[in-house]
Amino acid sequence: MSKLLEFINGQRAALLKDLEQLVNMDSPTGSKVLVDQAMEVVIQRFQELIGGTVERIPQEQFGDQVKLYLRKEAGAAAETGAGQIMLLTHIDTVWPEGEVACRPFRQEGNRLYGPGIFDMKCGLLQGLYAMYAVASQCNPTKNIVLFINTDEEVGSPSSRRWIEEEAAKSDAVFVLEPALGPDGKLKTARKGVGRFTLEIEGVSAHSGINHSEGVSALEELAHQILFLQGLTNYEKGSTVNVGLASGGTAVNVVSDYARAQFELRIESKDEADRLSQLISNMSPVLNNVKLRVQGGMVRPPMERAMSRDLFASAQSVARELGFPLQEAATGGASDGNFTAALNVPTLDGLGAVGHGAHALDEYVELDHIALRSALLAHLMMEQMKD
Ligand SMILES: [Zn+2]
Repeated sequence: MSKLLEFINGQRAALLKDLEQLVNMDSPTGSKVLVDQAMEVVIQRFQELIGGTVERIPQEQFGDQVKLYLRKEAGAAAETGAGQIMLLTHIDTVWPEGEVACRPFRQEGNRLYGPGIFDMKCGLLQGLYAMYAVASQCNPTKNIVLFINTDEEVGSPSSRRWIEEEAAKSDAVFVLEPALGPDGKLKTARKGVGRFTLEIEGVSAHSGINHSEGVSALEELAHQILFLQGLTNYEKGSTVNVGLASGGTAVNVVSDYARAQFELRIESKDEADRLSQLISNMSPVLNNVKLRVQGGMVRPPMERAMSRDLFASAQSVARELGFPLQEAATGGASDGNFTAALNVPTLDGLGAVGHGAHALDEYVELDHIALRSALLAHLMMEQMKD
C-alpha cells in the first residue's frame, strides 16, 4: 500500500470527526457570520495539523476569502522559479440556516448524509488531509495553497479575482468539486455560461379600435424566442435556453413592452464568440420595434485540453492505488472554469464520491474518502517531480 494512503487511512477517524463537525454547521452563502464560523473550524484544524500560513481576504457581504499555504511564504517560490500547486474549494452551501437542525450529519451503512457534505465539505477536508499527508510524509518542493471560497454557489462574485490571482501563480489547479457518478469520474471539461436579457419596445394600441396602428412587442418576442432557441446545436455542444419571458399589460391592449431572459452554454471559446456575435446582432422581424440585448459570458468554458495531462497523471496514480478512473464532461460550471480560461492546467471533480449535490438525499461514500484524498496527495507529488 502507498505510504500516503496508509497515512491518510490512519487519519480516518480524525477526518470523519472533522467532517461531522463541519457538516453540522450551517454555512449558506448569504450568511457571512455562519460562513466565517465554519471557516474558523477549518483554519484551526489547518493550524493544528499543518501549521502553515493563513491569509484572510476580508469581505463585507460574504464570508472572508481564505488561503492556507503549506509554507510560510505566500505565493510562488520566487527563488526557485517554481510555481505553486493550488487546491480550489468552497465552504458555502446552498442550504439555508436551520437545515442542519432538520437533517444533521448521519451515517447509514457506507453512506454519510448531511447538508453540503457532497458539495463540497467532504472534498474540502479530503484536500486538507491530502495536504497534511504531503507535509508530514514527503519533502514537497513546491508550495501548496488551499483556497477556500465563500461565495461559489452564487457565481463567485467576490472571490473570482482572488482565485484568478492565485491560479496565475500556480502550475496546476486541482478543484475539489464532487466527482461524477457512482464510479467517481473526474471532470475534464465544463461548459461556459452566458446570461442575457432581451427587451422589446413596440407600439401600444387598443386591440378593438385601432389594432392596425399597434406593433406588438409580444409578437416580436415570439419571433425572437424561436430565433434564440434555434441557435441550439447539440453536435457542437451549444445550447440556448429562453428561461423567462413576460410582457403586455391587458388582454385588450396591443403590448408595447416584452422581455425575456436567456442562457447560453457552450464548450469552446470559439462557440462563445460566434454565438455572442449572433446575439448582439439580433435584429427585429417586425417594423417599428426596438430590441435591446444586455449581458454576456459569465463563466468561460473549461476546455478539455487544459485537463488532459493532469487527467493522464491521475489515471496512472489511480491504477497504482488499485482503482479504475474515468473522465466526463459536464454542462455545470465551477470555479475551475475561471482557472482553465487563464490557461492554467486544471483538473476538476477531485472531491467526494457520492450523489445528490443541492438535493435533500445528498450523500458521500465513506469507502472512497481516504482513497480520493490519497489520489490528490499523489497527484500533488507527481507535480513536484520535474
Ligand atoms: Zn460545489
